[in-house]
Amino acid sequence: MAEELNPTNNFKNNLECAEALDAIDGLRTYRDKFFIPQHNGSDAVYFTGNSLGLQPKTTQHYIQQELNDWAKFGVEGHFLAKNAWLPYHEFLTDKMAKIVGAFPKETVMMNQLTVNLHLLMVSFYRPTKQRYKILCEAKAFPSDQYALQSQIKFHGFTIEEALIEISPRENEYSIRHEDIYSAIEKNKDSLALIMIGGVNYFTGQVFDMKKITEAGHKAGATVGFDLAHGAGNLELHLHDWNVDFAAWCSYKYLNSGPGSVAGAFIHEKHLSNTDLPLFAGWWGHEKESRFLMDKTFIPMKTAERWQLSNAPVFSMAACRASLDIFDEVGMADLNKKAKLLSAYLEFVVEEVSKQKNNCLQIITPSENRGCQISIVANGYGKNLYSKLIEHGVIADWREPNVIRCAPVPLYNSFKDIYRFGEILNTLL
Ligand SMILES: *Cc1c(COP(=O)(O)O)cnc(C)c1O
Repeated sequence: MAEELNPTNNFKNNLECAEALDAIDGLRTYRDKFFIPQHNGSDAVYFTGNSLGLQPKTTQHYIQQELNDWAKFGVEGHFLAKNAWLPYHEFLTDKMAKIVGAFPKETVMMNQLTVNLHLLMVSFYRPTKQRYKILCEAKAFPSDQYALQSQIKFHGFTIEEALIEISPRENEYSIRHEDIYSAIEKNKDSLALIMIGGVNYFTGQVFDMKKITEAGHKAGATVGFDLAHGAGNLELHLHDWNVDFAAWCSYKYLNSGPGSVAGAFIHEKHLSNTDLPLFAGWWGHEKESRFLMDKTFIPMKTAERWQLSNAPVFSMAACRASLDIFDEVGMADLNKKAKLLSAYLEFVVEEVSKQKNNCLQIITPSENRGCQISIVANGYGKNLYSKLIEHGVIADWREPNVIRCAPVPLYNSFKDIYRFGEILNTLL
């Protein structure tokens, strides 16, 4: 059965095929570990795990534990809680490091994503008169654009002179890697930093982080990635790829709840350099002597050096609940299922489109994608999105006419995809 169904050319846009694919899915029981939003008494088709991942049923128990210990111990919970709060962030490190392909010492959960991008740029964007440019993808997520622009201005440069944005070519949606490499080569004497989203939030295009890092280093630049749409979605090897730094949030594919704590990666090779400039806080101070409250900052020798404040325990508790699930499954199996889900979604969308004057166009490159498929609905406006919601499909809409769908391997099924196709078919 698996042999028959796995090759994409055996896909069929019918309930029988979807159910057969679900039946051979080794991860199908994980759906029961999540709360699925309801629509008219049954499960909605939830395709926005790339925006806010669903809640694991265990999350409330992880948070309740900390509420109980707070009630029981007050401040003493820092030491006496079942999971002591003082080192609480450490409980997340190993599992998070595994997900992004890093050593634990290179990984820390702290703050939120945009904050981490800034903190890391303080250390890794050190422009000089000769070398001051930042290269990024055009139409990056707005928060990233604002962060890059404000860093440039903070250092006394203008956006016009210092920001290089790589766009797709005319009438194309994906950015060609060759255009990234040629821009790096062209600016090799003035390039300070490459900062790209590992997965573009709009098109779902995945970039070749290994090769971009190599090219950046060859040009003498540092290389960082925003992995908001990468962490928990792709198999990452940040250490082996020699990436200088990265940051990500945990509320998208990592299911840690709205606004939950973010992650950061700093490559091992930078950790021994204790002269690296940074904005410091007490949680980055060597932990053995932190509470001597001395005025001299003694930097930790791990990514924890970039921490400013003590750990937000409740959001970290939610994050732990999710990381424990990821740890049980592993990115390799998740990735295998993700590939099959997105291939099936692509197939179903194309089948529907064929019957509707080919009005649907997938703009996510099939050779470079994770869970997300972005679909242009030619001739349809936002009304289509509202109708989808009315029919129990939670996808999202990006102006002018893009529907983003992310079937995620932990809780989405092949049947979700079939239902999406059916609903789309009746609406178009
Ligand atoms: C979701 C997302 C953000 C959000 O930033 P926060 O600081 O978590 O609010 C930033 N950048 C990218 C690329 C994103 O996808």
